Amino acid sequence: MKNFEFDSVIIGAGHNALVLAGYLAKSGLKVAVLERTAFIGGGAGTFPSPFHPGFVHEYHSQFHRNIPNLPWYSDLELDQYGLEYIYPQVNNGMPLSDGRCLIVHADPNITKKSIERFSKKDAENYFKIYHEYADMGRKIWFVRDYSPPIPPDEEQELMKKSKVGREFLELNKKSAYEMVHELFEDEALRAFYLFLFSVRGYLPVPTVKNTGFAIVAMTVMGNKAMMPRGGARQLTHALGSMVIRHGGVLFPATEVGEIIIKNGRAAGVETTDGRKFMAKQCVVSSVDPTQTFLKFIGEKHLDSAIVEGIKNYKYGISGKSFGVLFALHAGSHEAPNYTASKWDPMINQAFNTCVGYESPEEVLAHLTGVIEGTPTENIGIQCCCPTLFDPTRAPKGKHVLLAWQFAPYSIKDAGPEEWEKIKHEYLEKVLARWAEYAPNLAPKGNNIIYKFPETPPDTERHLINMREGDFHVGALIPEQLGFNRPLPQISGYKAPIDRLYLTGAGTHPGGNITGAPGYNAAQVVIRDLGKEVWWNPPDPRKDWAELD
Ligand SMILES: Cc1cc2nc3c(=O)[nH]c(=O)nc-3n(C[C@H](O)[C@H](O)[C@H](O)COP(=O)(O)OP(=O)(O)OC[C@H]3O[C@@H](n4cnc5c(N)ncnc54)[C@H](O)[C@@H]3O)c2cc1C
Repeated sequence: MKNFEFDSVIIGAGHNALVLAGYLAKSGLKVAVLERTAFIGGGAGTFPSPFHPGFVHEYHSQFHRNIPNLPWYSDLELDQYGLEYIYPQVNNGMPLSDGRCLIVHADPNITKKSIERFSKKDAENYFKIYHEYADMGRKIWFVRDYSPPIPPDEEQELMKKSKVGREFLELNKKSAYEMVHELFEDEALRAFYLFLFSVRGYLPVPTVKNTGFAIVAMTVMGNKAMMPRGGARQLTHALGSMVIRHGGVLFPATEVGEIIIKNGRAAGVETTDGRKFMAKQCVVSSVDPTQTFLKFIGEKHLDSAIVEGIKNYKYGISGKSFGVLFALHAGSHEAPNYTASKWDPMINQAFNTCVGYESPEEVLAHLTGVIEGTPTENIGIQCCCPTLFDPTRAPKGKHVLLAWQFAPYSIKDAGPEEWEKIKHEYLEKVLARWAEYAPNLAPKGNNIIYKFPETPPDTERHLINMREGDFHVGALIPEQLGFNRPLPQISGYKAPIDRLYLTGAGTHPGGNITGAPGYNAAQVVIRDLGKEVWWNPPDPRKDWAELD
């Protein structure tokens, strides 16, 4: 079997691996990116409909946030690779069963007007938070996510030095649930923000403390959802092209089975079909910590505390957080027409639509049920009709529909296999719930051309690193966040083996299409290899020390 030789070998070709590969390739390293499936992109994973020609579906990420303004987008010059982001102006919407609706618009003045119809006080508060905390979001939240994590005690000390830092600590002490009650008086608005926050998988149970600022962040940055024209995969195609242009090579259908360790140093990898990819400078794993440590490296090369820590690393609902979804995919003749469009026609143009929750208690009750392993009967869904903004995703005049429901990976007393028995019935319930708010989607009408479910076990089948269907590749619980991700001993993107590095959603700051784990790891690798960091990453130790 042929051996390959590169400077850097990267395991997995999700967007984080490709962001990292882009920086390494642009730094002059000869990079190989090895991907288990036939497609690069991982959770930026657009697929054609298995049932009808011309329709395409997002099996994973639909809502990308603020991507063209992220530092790696400009550093890697992604605008040169045909990537175009569409930014729907009616960013979020929430229809209610009494015929009213709430709108979050790209323009905060329009959002304020929508909230005013529910509560003048909440509208003022929204506006105040949006403007007053934008700076805090940029200077603290963004800097924290887009830099290697620093130990929590040091972070606290740095924060305490400035007024804005102290205010951040105070806000963040609270739970998300307390925060929505403190900020807003209207029940629907409280539910809306709690749901927007939960669907990003940020939460363990929303009553857990130290999640408060995320609600403020959702208010400040929650109107930045967008999508690439043609599908999420266009983002990773642009990243892949960038890597290739800078001399890198992508290897699809190449599953890594082992990291080759020679004299205590990561020397390359061996694939499950026996190919060897040797790495002169470094190996980087972007996949789940369980594969990386227990399969690729193996217990014999590891300290027992690390082995124990990785065995206890929690995914999805077993970690009591909510990065696990059941999806309804469909093709339709018409886009959803909400009853609430009589109250505000903009609801029919909403990109991300929250349907079915009207009070924070409903969100809580549902999440509690999911933790217990019960697919909820009281359905609350995140819905989208991407063809309203990107007609390339369906035949002319037709539409693509997507609805996500938080769901357990394993059904109580029956296991994950039970989904195969119940998925079609559950799909009907999800569609029926959506149709309560948008009657033209009624299952008995003839608007729906075809539909199919994707269950949490399906997510894991597509991408084995999303264990238990967890799209964050590890629950976002305090024990696994920031400096603790994946473990405090292996924080900061370095594995305990020389020249072996980590990136991907299983590292700080976790999942979603942020590119942050790839961006942060690039800085660590490049410094370690003694090369110049030619871009300008934030530095929390310096930036936070300078806050007023
Ligand atoms: C249903 C669903 C909805 C989502 N919606 C959103 C959303 O709207 N917005 C958002 O921002 N995020 C969303 N996400 C989350 C997002 O997709 C992930 O958090 C993100 O893709 C993680 O990126 P990554 O690069 O770290 O890893 P991944 O995208 O998971 O990429 C890892 C890659 O490694 C490969 N791999 C695994 N094992 C091996 C191996 N042994 N050898 C070689 N390759 C291997 C995998 O095949 C995969 O391609 C969603 C996810 C799901 C499942």
